[in-house]
Amino acid sequence: MRLITTVKEMKTLAQELKSGGKVIGLVPTMGYLHEGHLSLVRTSLEKTDVTVVSIFVNPTQFGPREDFSHYPRDLDRDIQILEKMGVEIVFHPEPEEMYPEGYKTYVEIPVLQTKLCGRSRPGHFRGVCTIVLKLFHIIHPELAFFGQKDAQQSIILKRMVEDLDMEVRIEVLPIVRDADGLALSSRNTYLNEGGRKAALCLWKSLSLAQSMVQRGERDPQIILQKMRGIIQKEPLAKIDYAEIVDPEELNPLSRIEGEALIAMAVYIGKVRLIDNVLVKEKE
Ligand code: AMP
Repeated sequence: MRLITTVKEMKTLAQELKSGGKVIGLVPTMGYLHEGHLSLVRTSLEKTDVTVVSIFVNPTQFGPREDFSHYPRDLDRDIQILEKMGVEIVFHPEPEEMYPEGYKTYVEIPVLQTKLCGRSRPGHFRGVCTIVLKLFHIIHPELAFFGQKDAQQSIILKRMVEDLDMEVRIEVLPIVRDADGLALSSRNTYLNEGGRKAALCLWKSLSLAQSMVQRGERDPQIILQKMRGIIQKEPLAKIDYAEIVDPEELNPLSRIEGEALIAMAVYIGKVRLIDNVLVKEKE
C-alpha cells in the first residue's frame, strides 16, 4: 500500500494509473474508520481496479465553534485496517497541502447548502463541495463512494457533478448501524455510556416514522409529531431539526408521495448526531 501526502505525487500516480487503463475508485473520508467507511471501501475494491481512500479532516467544512481540532484521528490504525483489506493507495495530505497560503476558491451550491444541516452549519457544504471537487481533480476517479448517512452531502455532491459536467459517477451506499440501530459515526466516540444509550432515540424515532409510512400514513406533520415525542422523552437529547423532505430539492413535503427523505440532527449533550431514512410511498 502507498501512503501519499502530496498533491503532486497523487496527481502523477493517478495519471499513470489512468493511462494504464485502470479504473480508479475513490472513498473520501475524514478517517477514524469504522464499518460504515469500510463498507464503502469494500464496494470500491469490488467495483474498481484501484481504490484510493482519502483521509483528510477538512478544516473548511467545520465552523469556528465546531470540533475540527478535537475530531478523532488515528492514522496508524486506519492504515493498518486499509492495508489488510487490500487498499492500494491512501491519500493523506496536510491541510496546508490542500489549502496553501493564498488559497481563495470555493464551490457553493446555493439553496441546497442552506437546508437541513446547512441551517446550523453554515459554510459546511461549501467546504465539503470544495474538498471533494479538489479530490476529484487530483485523483480523477471513475467512481466515488459516499454513505447515505450523510444524505444531504450525497444529494449536493451529485448536483455538483451534474452541474459541472464531471465524468465521475457517485455511488451512495446504505447506512451501517450498530446492532441496536445507532448509525455508526466517528463522532459516536464522544458519547459516554449515558449518551450512547440516549443516542438510540434517533433510530427509535426514524424507525417509527418508517413504519408509520409503511402502514399508510402520508401526513408528514403527524409523523414528525410522533418523532419529536420520542426525542423529547430523552432528557439528554435536543432536536436540531427533524424534517420530511423531497430527496432532490430538500423541500419539506406537505404529503408523502413517491420518495421522501426523513432526516434529523439531534444534540446528545454537546454531541450533534445525524441520521435519516429514505422511504417510498409504496413500501
Ligand atoms: P466521514 O469520515 O464522516 O466524512 O465519512 C466518510 C464517508 O463515509 C461519507 O461518505 C459518509 O457518508 C460515510 N459514512 C459515515 N458513516 C457511515 C455509516 N454509518 N454508514 C455508511 N456510510 C457512512
